[in-house]
Amino acid sequence: MTNSCQRRIGIMGGTFDPIHYGHLRAADEAHAAFGLSEVIFVPTGQPPHKAGERVSSVEDRYMMTVLATVDCPYFSVSRIEIDKTGKSYTIDTLRQLKSMPEYRDTEFYFITGLDAVLDIVSWKNPEEIMSLCKFVAVSRYGYTHSRMQELPEDLRSAIIPLEIPLLAISSTGLRERVRMNRSIRFLVPPSVEHFIRKKSLYSSI
Ligand code: ATP
Ligand code: MG
Repeated sequence: MTNSCQRRIGIMGGTFDPIHYGHLRAADEAHAAFGLSEVIFVPTGQPPHKAGERVSSVEDRYMMTVLATVDCPYFSVSRIEIDKTGKSYTIDTLRQLKSMPEYRDTEFYFITGLDAVLDIVSWKNPEEIMSLCKFVAVSRYGYTHSRMQELPEDLRSAIIPLEIPLLAISSTGLRERVRMNRSIRFLVPPSVEHFIRKKSLYSSI
């Protein structure tokens, strides 16, 4: 049973290559919907789902995440996954956070887009993930919550759907736009755009 005195904290995991307004909007919607005291952004280390794909350095992704969130008093960024060697798994991160004394009385809300939720059967220990946190599925352009029917009943029943304004922005699309010399203004915060230009991210091969 949920203890109403418990502090609620959101966890927003992602590769953030780059972070964009879709991520920030999703976190802000969950913050308001569930009365979260803060949302911690957790950039992945070596993402298990993206093995073989070209991913920017962890420090560049961390820096962009910090730049994008620094203005918001209830957003913060954790190095928990990027300081780890080897693959990042959500279950290990959740176990680690749950074991920290500062989070003893905390209920975690893990915020995920619908596209990622539909893939959850391929994650490590999905049932245990559900038992350690509230698992929130936010709307994502191109997906409807009815698709949660595709998931096994025990997982589906533990997921909380959250309708949010659809922003058809993806990091893949942004990397493509930079490669094509198209503008990414108003899709990412200005500081992130400046950082991408300064470090010449995504522009070559
Ligand atoms: P990529 O195209 O490289 O996969 P992405 O835009 O999907 O990048 P991720 O870092 O993979 O970004 O996503 C982190 C989390 O944010 C995932 O749970 C994803 O579903 C969610 N998310 C990403 N973009 C949006 C968006 N526009 N609206 C809602 N959720 C989003
Ligand atoms: Mg993605």
